Amino acid sequence: MSEAAVQPESHEFQAEVSQLLNLMIHSLYSNKEIFLRELISNASDACDKLRFQALQDDSLYAGDNDLKINISLDKDAGTLTISDNGIGMTHDEVITNIGTIAKSGTKEFLQSLTGDQAQDAQLIGQFGVGFYSSFIVASKVAVVTRKAGTDEAFRWESEGTGRYTLEATERDTRGTDVILYFRDEDKEYLDDWRIRGIIRKYSDHISLPIMMLQEANEASEETEQDKDQQVEWEQVNNTTALWARAKKDISDEEYKDFYKAVAPDFQDPLAWTHNRVEGKQEYTNLLYIPSQAPFDLWDRDKMHGIKLYVNRVFIMDDSEQLMPKYLRFVRGLVDSNDLPLNVSREILQSNKLIDGIRSGSVKKVLSLLESIAKNKPEDYKAFWKNFGAVLKEGPAEDFANKETVAKLFRFSSTREDSAEQNVSLDQYIGSMKPGQDKIYYLTADTYMAAKNSPHLEAFKKRDIEVLLMCDRVDEWMMQYLNEYDEKKFISVAKGDLDLGELDSEEDKKTAEEAEKAAEGVIERLKTALGDQVESVRASSRLTDSPAVVVLNENEMALHMQQLMKQAGHEVPVSKPILEINPTHNLLTRIEAEQDEQVFADWAQLLFDQAVLAGGGQLENPSEFVKQLNKLLLS
Ligand code: ADP
Repeated sequence: MSEAAVQPESHEFQAEVSQLLNLMIHSLYSNKEIFLRELISNASDACDKLRFQALQDDSLYAGDNDLKINISLDKDAGTLTISDNGIGMTHDEVITNIGTIAKSGTKEFLQSLTGDQAQDAQLIGQFGVGFYSSFIVASKVAVVTRKAGTDEAFRWESEGTGRYTLEATERDTRGTDVILYFRDEDKEYLDDWRIRGIIRKYSDHISLPIMMLQEANEASEETEQDKDQQVEWEQVNNTTALWARAKKDISDEEYKDFYKAVAPDFQDPLAWTHNRVEGKQEYTNLLYIPSQAPFDLWDRDKMHGIKLYVNRVFIMDDSEQLMPKYLRFVRGLVDSNDLPLNVSREILQSNKLIDGIRSGSVKKVLSLLESIAKNKPEDYKAFWKNFGAVLKEGPAEDFANKETVAKLFRFSSTREDSAEQNVSLDQYIGSMKPGQDKIYYLTADTYMAAKNSPHLEAFKKRDIEVLLMCDRVDEWMMQYLNEYDEKKFISVAKGDLDLGELDSEEDKKTAEEAEKAAEGVIERLKTALGDQVESVRASSRLTDSPAVVVLNENEMALHMQQLMKQAGHEVPVSKPILEINPTHNLLTRIEAEQDEQVFADWAQLLFDQAVLAGGGQLENPSEFVKQLNKLLLS
């Protein structure tokens, strides 16, 4: 036996340890229960280390290779004991491992402390506080440990106030017990169910069994001997860290069951992707696409999709740093090997590791969706119905993946006679006319409004496909999606429509002549409508309708302006351009009107009906009806 066996040694903590203890007790009080997670994680590490060393030297097991963690409560003594049959520690290891701070990272951390408690409390989240977190709830901590392959055991004890003692003791087998003597105000942790709850919350997926005594036995008053014989330990955690297993060993049923537990959901998921990333950064993700939209999909602040684990230890739920909002329907988890256990939400917000995990996970989800679209069109249809409008938030939120996200979009189109959104941008481009280099689209309130819009007339005539966008998000989304595959998006309802090479020389000439011929009526309309319009011009858009209202390129569509106004937003008033179809009978009729007063009534009617047909609302509908009736009667 070493000298340590003769007399308890009294040691002083390394200065940094005292500093850390002090800081921790003061800054982690709001989340005390994490002490158990940290100690279970240490016990699990100790077992992993033993297993690893036993690969070389089987005798270290000494006949016991059933590695596990036992947790027991002693209400009378006010203690909780976490025991493992892992590697254990020698006398000197106890001193270096739990009397000093060996990790250089922690030293650097302590050096970076400012002395400002609030600021330091934030910093502490970056570092694994580990063993010392026991002092958040315990006024005294004892460690009894025996290193595998030796027969010497040691008892370490400290009240966390700067000193600890170390003495020889007895322990029947290898391993470590950490005994916490709870502070009076933390006696709540002596409750069996409380402890079980914390284990399930944080350590369910620790791959070792975590055992506790059955409550009934613990409560019964038997002699020590009887108890030993009758006591039954039961496993509290689930141990199946499904995602840590090899993909080929996991059945579809297992993947589905796991989804139902984590989502949680009653139905099977639509699809999933499971990846182990190695190299500079190591993490595993298991991400699911649900088959149905959750009821709160539209609540953009509700993020509850992704759980974060570190080395199979649960860290936190719905970490919004792991998935952007436009993928908020994704469920599953990320398990990092590199993050510290004690990582906080604040730290996650500006962490390079997290950024890497996030962008890797986003790519996996997007390519999963791409492969569903390619290989299971029916499934993709279902996906798009449920989540398409959410995915459309992508171009605004995720600039880097704009093109990949847009590839997944589906729209209604003038090519199809259905309100279903089936046409992809690649399909659209595949069937563009020779000479066409732009993607034409129209946003509207409803599919019917879009489909029957006068803005489409010129495109119908030339057999050019136009995408019809009727989701509320579309108008906003299109502000961010200017191009796809190097082709510009052009709203057929906005700006000066230049069909460029799509028009024959003959068409252009006819248009020019019509415009010339219409100069007179255009001037008269301008005068009659005054400052209701920015200008009046001959249209290249129309074949059947007499007139149409056109907006500036960067202006909101009329139906959106309406919506914004209803929602109480200030909408910048902009004057539209009135485009007329000079060959339309109505225009010929108006032009013939000699009485300028009557002409003005006609002009107003023409303008108002163009606003209505374009999805806008009239400032004064009853005036419109009155005027219409007057003209009908005249
Ligand atoms: P970390 O676990 O992050 O290294 P801790 O402060 O939690 O930091 O623990 C310090 C060290 O003490 C561990 O690295 C390990 O060597 C040792 N240790 C803690 N708990 C145990 C245990 N149950 N069995 C064996 N060694 C342990």
